[in-house]
Amino acid sequence: MKRTTGQDRSTTRNWRPATQAIRAGTWRSEMGETSEALFLTSGYSYDDAATPAARFMGEAEGMTYSRLQNPTVQMLEERIAVMEGADACRTQASGMAAMTAALLCQLSAGDHMVAARAAFGSCRWLGDHLLPRFGIEVTVIDARDTRAWEEAIRPNTKVFFFETPANPTMDVADLAAIADIAKAHGITTVVDNAFCTPVLQRPMDFGIDVVAYSATKLMDGQGRVLAGAVCGSEEFINEKLMPFQRNTGPNLSPFNAWVVLKGLETLDLRAQRQSENALALGQFLEGRVGQVLHPWLDSHPGKALAQKQMKACGPIFSFVLDGGRAQAHALLDGLQLIDISNNIGDSRSLMCHPASTTHHNMGPEGREAMGIPEGMLRINVGLEHIDDLIEDMDQALKQAGL
Ligand SMILES: *Cc1c(COP(=O)(O)O)cnc(C)c1O
Repeated sequence: MKRTTGQDRSTTRNWRPATQAIRAGTWRSEMGETSEALFLTSGYSYDDAATPAARFMGEAEGMTYSRLQNPTVQMLEERIAVMEGADACRTQASGMAAMTAALLCQLSAGDHMVAARAAFGSCRWLGDHLLPRFGIEVTVIDARDTRAWEEAIRPNTKVFFFETPANPTMDVADLAAIADIAKAHGITTVVDNAFCTPVLQRPMDFGIDVVAYSATKLMDGQGRVLAGAVCGSEEFINEKLMPFQRNTGPNLSPFNAWVVLKGLETLDLRAQRQSENALALGQFLEGRVGQVLHPWLDSHPGKALAQKQMKACGPIFSFVLDGGRAQAHALLDGLQLIDISNNIGDSRSLMCHPASTTHHNMGPEGREAMGIPEGMLRINVGLEHIDDLIEDMDQALKQAGL
């Protein structure tokens, strides 16, 4: 243990992100293993009866049960917290477990939440269907319109919930402006940062209170496991999230935590290269298709704000074909290298048609309000060579008559 600096915040918080992603949170057993150990254990045993008594009373540090603590899971939580610039982090079994926990742990019947219209389908479901069943009212607004946040506030508003850039429209919301409005009214901001991860955007640097993740995406980065995380202040994590999590149990398995730890080691490199590839492919598509929704292109109305908040564009963008669903499906069917898949953040390039898959449940009116036309395609650009990706896109566009 003596040469493991990964547990010392006064050191790890000063490292650059690429270093944090490899070393922050590392804890070594007496074996001195270089790679993080995988502790597949649900329980812990004690040398004497007084030890668990002291731990259960909170008078001594130490593990008691893996719903509460696990060494592999804690390494991941410490690493994500340091990378995010957060006091603390707790992980969950999936991104949706993280979003659900982040909201339900702090909202009660009679409270009100303001949420972004453009969002991941299941995040919208939480606000549209789950929270109202428990007497929590939700107002949905256009997150790009900063004044709309202020206008939606009621005396009982407790939470603002949004993502930026949003899925799949690539709407960019102003983190600092929305955080300021929330702070002035004592409202907690919760941002779903799955598209970016802390190497591309750190919402807390702009005043956001709680950052929630699907670590399934760019953090794992190789399409292997589901995982989620919630970052916040010591007070939020210990007093709001932990009572909810320890008693409801949406925990991340140690095995999946270990896989994400391995994924994080290459996060900085992957995010940079996938962003470069995504920009090159976006530039290739512009002029060839009806519309490209890409925050790093001049044609995107949120470009300046995106470049203020994000270090690079990330791997995901969308584009719209004038020929509607038939032409979008024809392009997907013409792909030879890029996979038809609705996942994102993978090192493989993946493409999907939101209107018939991820946002199918919203119905035509819901999609129209959210800005998802029938001809929209969303792509996650991977780590393949950019020339191979452009050649595949080019031949598929030709097969779709473009
Ligand atoms: C994938 C995703 C989620 C849900 O995460 P899971 O790990 O699939 O549960 C939530 N928000 C965004 C923006 C996502 O992309």
